[in-house]
Amino acid sequence: MNIAAGSNRSSRIAGFHKLSPRDRLDLVAAFAGLDDAQVAHLANMGNLDPVLADKLIENVIGTMNIPVGVATNMKIDGEDVLVPMATEESSVVAAVCNAAKQVYETGFLTSVSGNLMIAQVQAVEVADPAGARIRILEKRDEIKAACDACDPVLVSLGGGFRDLEVRLLDTPSGTMVVTHLIVDTRDAMGANAVNTMAEKLAPSIAAWSGGRVYLRILSNLADRRLARARAVWKAADIGGEAVRDGIVSAYEFAAADPYRAATHNKGIMNGISAVVLATGNDTRAVEAGAHAYAARSGRYTSLTTYEVDKDGNLSASIELPLAVGLIGGATKVHPTARACLAILGVTTAERLARIIAAVGLAQNFSALKALATTGIQKGHMALHAQNIAMMAGAVGEEIDRVARLLVERASVRMDVAQKVLEEVRGS
Ligand code: NAD
Repeated sequence: MNIAAGSNRSSRIAGFHKLSPRDRLDLVAAFAGLDDAQVAHLANMGNLDPVLADKLIENVIGTMNIPVGVATNMKIDGEDVLVPMATEESSVVAAVCNAAKQVYETGFLTSVSGNLMIAQVQAVEVADPAGARIRILEKRDEIKAACDACDPVLVSLGGGFRDLEVRLLDTPSGTMVVTHLIVDTRDAMGANAVNTMAEKLAPSIAAWSGGRVYLRILSNLADRRLARARAVWKAADIGGEAVRDGIVSAYEFAAADPYRAATHNKGIMNGISAVVLATGNDTRAVEAGAHAYAARSGRYTSLTTYEVDKDGNLSASIELPLAVGLIGGATKVHPTARACLAILGVTTAERLARIIAAVGLAQNFSALKALATTGIQKGHMALHAQNIAMMAGAVGEEIDRVARLLVERASVRMDVAQKVLEEVRGS
């Protein structure tokens, strides 16, 4: 095939999207000067059918394999669950297993606020915003009928339009009239479902408001789709009162300080995003919702809380929006996602959200416990040492040997790893 694009290194490649993944790869290889091993590696699509990969996104040349690990010891609402987690970060799966082990007897208790998604329709240049708001609210029945007509399948499954809100937003260019369509999307994440409804209603909203409609899209701040989990770790099971108090203090730090809260919540999302990804759900949608919810008071804060209960034990909880589904997006078509959903044994999006919330809490407990006691690096080091060993060039059995020596010498560094690898190879 013609790979002339590589010689002048132009990124303007006419018809690139129409090529097969393999032909695109050849062009990219010529452009970037990839060697044969790199091309062969990218051409190996692993366990994702190239035809499917090419349909999921645009301009596909390969796939990115991320390990799927399984968190054990999880008991959620009285039921034992094995939780698949897709992540490239070491220690994340182990952290969930450890936290869950220390509370296995009672496990995690969960709840949800519902399956409601919000779609926004933005109207601008409205002469009488307050009047427009009332005029739109008066059309509730008409709006419900129009929304439900967009998705008879959803309605037949018990979902569909539920509520209407109209908000007035003061902006530099005047008051905007923002209509919220509140829709039960059942076992779908619901983005496409509610976006279709918002687009359908836009001309009517423009007419009723007398303004112009611009944006018509869901809000990822899915605060009517909250998932919650709680657990009580017995002080005796987690190393005593000093550890318990250290965890509470770590939480209070995050609750009071956005600099700490960002890292605290990042740790929570280590667990949450891993299950969201493993099940083919939209990690960015869940992350955007989580962080927006963490800032809902106007100040960014912790998604979890930790208190000492009346028995002196550690009472912990988490609450965040979790717009995940079992249908739509990659959930139904990606074979790995389907298999992961089968491992979880979930039959509703609600149950999936509950499990994910529990994983977030477990993850956070482990991180805080490590931080409040030995520090995060001790637990991380064994796995981190393996990464460093691999980066230094260790292969096969060398990886464990080099990693062990790095940890023993308390020096998990690339330069040391290279020397240790030479020793191992010379021995
Ligand atoms: P979808 O439109 O593919 O599927 C949902 C539809 O499936 C429903 O409308 C319904 O008609 C049907 N359905 C069948 N069985 C159902 C059941 N049991 N419960 C509910 N619906 C059922 O998917 P979606 O969930 O509307 O959209 C999700 C996708 O949208 C994700 O891939 C996401 O990445 C993407 N997306 C996200 C954003 C965002 O988050 N800002 C924006 C646009 C698109």
